[in-house]
Amino acid sequence: MKIYILIGTRPNFIKVTRFKELAQYNSDIEVFIIHTGQHFDRNMSEVFFQEFDMQPDYFLDIDSSSVIRQFSMIMMKLEDLMLEIGKPDLLLVPGDVNSTLAGALTANKLGIKLAHLESGLRSFDRSMPEEINRILTDRLSDVFFVTEKSGIEHLLAEGVDKQQIEFVGNTMIDTLVKFDPQIDDSQILIELKLKKDAYLLITLHRPSNVDTVENQIKLISMVKDLAEHRLSVFPVHPRTRNALISSGLWDSFELIENLILLDPLGYFEFQKLVKHCFAVITDSGGIQEETTFRQVPCITLRPNTERPVTTEIGSNILLPFDQDLVMDRLQKIANGEIANGEIPPYWDGKSTERIVQYLLDSNR
Ligand code: UDP
Repeated sequence: MKIYILIGTRPNFIKVTRFKELAQYNSDIEVFIIHTGQHFDRNMSEVFFQEFDMQPDYFLDIDSSSVIRQFSMIMMKLEDLMLEIGKPDLLLVPGDVNSTLAGALTANKLGIKLAHLESGLRSFDRSMPEEINRILTDRLSDVFFVTEKSGIEHLLAEGVDKQQIEFVGNTMIDTLVKFDPQIDDSQILIELKLKKDAYLLITLHRPSNVDTVENQIKLISMVKDLAEHRLSVFPVHPRTRNALISSGLWDSFELIENLILLDPLGYFEFQKLVKHCFAVITDSGGIQEETTFRQVPCITLRPNTERPVTTEIGSNILLPFDQDLVMDRLQKIANGEIANGEIPPYWDGKSTERIVQYLLDSNR
């Protein structure tokens, strides 16, 4: 069975680290990784392939100067690649980014069976580009790999046949479990002179939080407040940096005291910061899940989440961009009033194994 996995962005590199490794032990399955090039620079792409010792087999090197060019080029280059190397028995697309949907459309038009990894998640917020990508990818999928129970409910409600849904857990957690020794080996706490459990870790990059000047002013004011209260570390996503530079607000952001601004970090360093921080403040999808697994308090500055298990049983809470509410939550964490939460079912480091087993069984 020949499987192509299509990835293009940081979070999705992190979701597929174990497929090739597991396929090595089984002559019935062959896995090829195709990188679209949606994220391409060293900090957002290359570093992960080095850390995970997983080189993509093919790189599409697309032009992302506009969303439409990005979609069309992924589809055209993927078709050309298939003409050259042949079609797979299955195309697996993780997540909810443009590469995910472009891959799904290509599979559909070329008559290739499609599996969606992290299927069924819904924020019910159609203003998020990711929500549209999720819904449309699921519409086109044949196999639905689900990370949490809400995914099953949404897919059933949308009319997907139960037989096609596989509750496998979270492959992002597989990566955390597998690379825990390397995470522990990271020296970043020493390099940044950070004390365990004392600092805040902040990441914000969603368009709804960083794209308008009004929101950027709010962001700067909140981060200033947070850093005054507690030493804060903020690895800045390129989208956030570019937005602040183009509105002329980067300088005032850089001047905030007690704030360590960093370029995006490699996975081992970033995860070491997650493991030992006081709390995380984020708007990331994946980080809500990783903090839940680590049982580290997480405050998500969004009105909704497509990952409700992280707030229902995990350590995550949704809050609006409101300094008082965030400060109040941090105080409660400091007072020990907030439970650490539980780890959701099947977030056990074995999700990729379940998927590979499912694929082998379904091919017999
Ligand atoms: N991450 C990282 N370095 C950083 C920030 C995040 O390795 O400086 C990892 C993080 O551990 C998680 C993933 O990137 O696995 C999340 O990516 P992001 O927040 O960009 O995407 P989202 O999950 O919101 O789609």
